Amino acid sequence: MLSLISNGLVLVGTIILTGSLVTVRKIIHRLPRGGSRTSWHAMSGFITLFIVGYLGYVVVFWDQHTRVLDLIVPGIFFFGACFVWISSVLALQTAIDVMRITVLEHETFTDPLTGVYNRRFMEQHLVEEVSKARRYEFDLAVLLLDLDYFKRINDEHGHQAGDQLLIEIGNLIGKQLRDSDILSRYGGEEFLVIAPNTGPPAASLLAERLRGHIQSHRFLQEFKGTQEIEIRITVSIGVANFGGAITSEEALIHAADKHLYRAKEEGRNRVVDRETEDA
Ligand code: GH3
Ligand code: MG
Ligand code: MG
Repeated sequence: MLSLISNGLVLVGTIILTGSLVTVRKIIHRLPRGGSRTSWHAMSGFITLFIVGYLGYVVVFWDQHTRVLDLIVPGIFFFGACFVWISSVLALQTAIDVMRITVLEHETFTDPLTGVYNRRFMEQHLVEEVSKARRYEFDLAVLLLDLDYFKRINDEHGHQAGDQLLIEIGNLIGKQLRDSDILSRYGGEEFLVIAPNTGPPAASLLAERLRGHIQSHRFLQEFKGTQEIEIRITVSIGVANFGGAITSEEALIHAADKHLYRAKEEGRNRVVDRETEDA
């Protein structure tokens, strides 16, 4: 009877450990390569070793349990297996929760159409960048881009083509930026770039480069299912730099907006920056 109980405890423990191994494999599949994934691989190796050890114990001590005290070791094996199983299930649940939070955060801060940051994220980020620029006297620039005559694109090629163009423009701008720059969709067909550590000449050069790239890019759109048509578009850009009278995020955006308005007034497809205004 005692042998039956002790062998039963160890064998059930082995089954529980095998279940934990399955759970650990699920954790491994959800993790990116490297980092803690390697540690979980090691963990699955340990659990396999335990399983082999448990089975070895059953084989060696199959009928050697004569006293109640002989149940202590099988009992420890059993509860040890339960502990491993609970730990692995909790770890898997935590990994799933963290992923869910990450996806939610991503959705909260991303524009669903273009995939670039949304205005809410941009506003939060700009507060941080302005405070850094103020405290450490870093350069900081903001570029406000507005597509020229975008309404015509919608009217001539349809709203879907307009949407596709916005996605491509988001990609096109993104490729020209540094990792530290933040690209956001400010409004319907307006994008805003926060460029930290970027002084006035560099900011104007960047804006000019973006304007040139968009002007020379051939946007190809599917037309009536098969034929591809080429769409050309230009952009007007207002540039504002932190410093002088511009010492807050509101002032930066206001100045960029004012310069953008002037770029539109002066004929579109151009960059207006502070230097131009002061001149
Ligand atoms: P301007 O050169 O003065 O900027 O002319 P515009 O036609 O670009 O400016 P306006 O502000 O008159 O029109 C912007 C258009 O952008 C109107 C709207 O239909 C279009 N738009 C805004 N958001 C979206 C969007 O998400 N998708 C599409 N396809 N069009 C959009
Ligand atoms: Mg606009
Ligand atoms: Mg426009």
